[in-house]
Amino acid sequence: MRKKIIAANWKMNMTQGEAAAFVETLLLELGDESDVDVVIIPPFTAIPKVTEALGAAQNIKVGAQNMHWERSGAFTGEISAAMLRDLYVRYIVLGHSERRQYFGETDEIVNRKVRAAHEALLRPIVCIGETLDQREHGNVEKILAHQLRGSLADLNGKELTETVVAYEPVWAIGTGRNATPQQAQEAHAFIRHTLTQISDSATAEKVRIQYGGSVKPENAAELMSQPDIDGALVGGASLDARSFAQIVKAARPDDRD
Ligand code: PEP
Repeated sequence: MRKKIIAANWKMNMTQGEAAAFVETLLLELGDESDVDVVIIPPFTAIPKVTEALGAAQNIKVGAQNMHWERSGAFTGEISAAMLRDLYVRYIVLGHSERRQYFGETDEIVNRKVRAAHEALLRPIVCIGETLDQREHGNVEKILAHQLRGSLADLNGKELTETVVAYEPVWAIGTGRNATPQQAQEAHAFIRHTLTQISDSATAEKVRIQYGGSVKPENAAELMSQPDIDGALVGGASLDARSFAQIVKAARPDDRD
């Protein structure tokens, strides 16, 4: 049984004060959640404040939104995996469609970062997903297989099982238009099938696949009741602590039975 994982991708939002207030409310709503893996992914500048505000709540982990693949050096403006570990970061979002679209990240770049993350014992959340045009031309599976094989190249079985894949159809991100549970399940089943080809079925069964794209309290439970949907990567709705907490609650095992 795969444990659900719900992550809050704040993108370029939240000051330190706002981050601390968010965590305070979240802890009132959830306590130190243990039924669901919860990850808060602030901008770099708010990471220490989130960790401080979480205090003794050790089950809730902190992530980051990007990193460089090199360990150190002359890369102005970049941040390494070791620097993130130094801030107690445990997860790293890689290959988000906004980074692919606005910052030219390719599968090859994503793969370098994924391998560097594993080397530093950070767990990558690797985002893949098709555009509307690609979906309308019937290319969903081709695109997903290509992104998956490229981004996850050269990982061993252990690294694969410690990788989270986020299926994020680009047309559903920040648009209010989510994939239907059936559309999402179809894509997730295909991703798991491709993971079987990349490794083996025992490994593929262990990999958690999140859905991302306009997840809200109203649609979370139905999406997460699908057999291959193992959680959510949440953008907009994760900026409000109560909305985000409701999504986490919708992923608790008892709430789905
Ligand atoms: C995201 O950016 O990863 C995302 C899923 O955003 P939203 O929930 O706002 O669609």
